[in-house]
Amino acid sequence: MKVFDRKILLKELKEEINWDVIVIGGGATGLGIAVDASSRGFKTLLIEQDDFAKGTSSRSTKLVHGGVRYLAQGNISLVKEALKERGLLLQNAPHLTKNESIIIPCYSWMKTIFYATGLTFYDWLSGSLGLGKSKIISKKQLIKRLPTIKRQSLKSGVLYHDGTFDDSRLAINLAQTCVEHGGVVLNYCKVVSLIKSGNKISGATVLDRETGNTYEIKAKAVVNATGVFVDDVIRMDDAGSKSLIRPSQGIHLVLDSSFLKSKDAIMIPHTDDGRVLFAIPWYDKVLVGTTDTPLNSHSLEPRALESEIDFVLKTAGKYLYKKPLKEDVLSVFAGLRPLAATDDGNDKTKEISRSHKVIISDSGLVSVIGGKWTTYRKMAEDTLSKMIRRNMLPNKKSITSDLKIHGYSVQNSNGTLAFYGTDAAKINELIALDPTFAATLSDETDIISAQVVWAVRNEMARTVEDFLARRTRVLFTDARLAIKLAPKVAEIMMKELGMDEIWKQDQIAAFTELAKGYIL
Ligand SMILES: Cc1cc2nc3c(=O)[nH]c(=O)nc-3n(C[C@H](O)[C@H](O)[C@H](O)COP(=O)(O)OP(=O)(O)OC[C@H]3O[C@@H](n4cnc5c(N)ncnc54)[C@H](O)[C@@H]3O)c2cc1C
Repeated sequence: MKVFDRKILLKELKEEINWDVIVIGGGATGLGIAVDASSRGFKTLLIEQDDFAKGTSSRSTKLVHGGVRYLAQGNISLVKEALKERGLLLQNAPHLTKNESIIIPCYSWMKTIFYATGLTFYDWLSGSLGLGKSKIISKKQLIKRLPTIKRQSLKSGVLYHDGTFDDSRLAINLAQTCVEHGGVVLNYCKVVSLIKSGNKISGATVLDRETGNTYEIKAKAVVNATGVFVDDVIRMDDAGSKSLIRPSQGIHLVLDSSFLKSKDAIMIPHTDDGRVLFAIPWYDKVLVGTTDTPLNSHSLEPRALESEIDFVLKTAGKYLYKKPLKEDVLSVFAGLRPLAATDDGNDKTKEISRSHKVIISDSGLVSVIGGKWTTYRKMAEDTLSKMIRRNMLPNKKSITSDLKIHGYSVQNSNGTLAFYGTDAAKINELIALDPTFAATLSDETDIISAQVVWAVRNEMARTVEDFLARRTRVLFTDARLAIKLAPKVAEIMMKELGMDEIWKQDQIAAFTELAKGYIL
């Protein structure tokens, strides 16, 4: 089997001359397309300018869901499609996903009936891929399950099921799955321009950001899956093109588990300004969010606005006994939804459709916009199918609906290595060869040195941030702890990557600076 090693894959990039597909962007959308394309048998190359899932795809609410909210908006086909994908993802990546019970606290009997009816329909729409029946629970049961919920005026609750997952771990495992099917994926490589033969796109110029070298890569088709950067790539093709994307920011605050003290999540279906707020148990913390703020600019490191932070704290405080304050926040992170821009310039981003669009320009650039993590597989299948219908590629069938994702394991151990699935055994082999790898990085964490070694050798981690933000999730669950762990991680990575002291110090400084932005 091909090795998931940047040096080896970079060599293949230089040597291969018959690429079928170049995918630009290593988030959920691009990785899904690369897995679909490579597993159909197409020679596939994926190029990511930073790390896999550095953008929006590591900053989601971590729900694998049909979207209860879209049901209320009457978008039944979108919900049905997402519910099917929810079921498939839980089947194909059991090591990264979990069936989560979510409780809606109800403060009137009318609301109880309303949500119970809607969620029974939601269950029905999920058909044989359902995760469990929703039900009404009494006030007494609700308080037992959610001991930190405010009891005043509470009448009852409605419990339903959706999935939760680890988004950036799924991204890494998808990248590995793509390579296992013959594809090449590279992080820290950027597409800087598109190559045209006549007026048709025939490839892309790729800059290796680690060495500064550039490569001209020819391919039958180029897919632009760059999320909120979609317009930038489209303008490499057509400088005068109008915007297809309207970024919408959503933030999350991470709190200590004492704010929830439950395995169940809370969903507040209608906040003061008509949004939905979740409090979800994630690792040993609670994730609270999100917001929906239209923006006119985009970046890889968006920052939460004060107004968004105040909104999340205030709303959570209305429902929780222990009111969260700024000083309770362990980490704050923001992400940008790549929503399809409306022709009428409608600013109400919560009303802009979350369904995806595949657009093929006259020159043949394929751009994918919209969608969500849950439906990444279907988006990929639709994209490849449309390219085949347009004769850009020969006809080959998609096999992803029951394709097991790298690490697939139904017998997952508990504890710190659980999310590695089948790779957990290989990490234990590393420890057997060198017992010092079993040491934790500090007394405050369960993360062990072997995980850093594994991430460098087998998961293409190139920086301290890659490890602390996306191979493990410390930056997102506790940014102060992440800063404390950075020197130890840098020390191990320096040895593994063959780097020097200067690299190590630069890494610590850069990571510390970044992580400060996750602390309030
Ligand atoms: C706050 C929030 C909460 C969400 N919650 C959920 C949820 O609970 N469940 C769910 O299903 N969905 C959720 N979503 C939606 C989901 O996260 C996104 O739809 C998905 O992650 C978008 O992935 P993407 O690949 O399109 O974009 P991205 O993840 O942003 O990936 C695009 C990539 O392209 C790269 N790139 C850009 N330009 C170039 C270039 N020139 N060369 C090479 N690479 C380039 C970028 O570096 C980036 O990594 C949420 C979104 C937000 C913002």
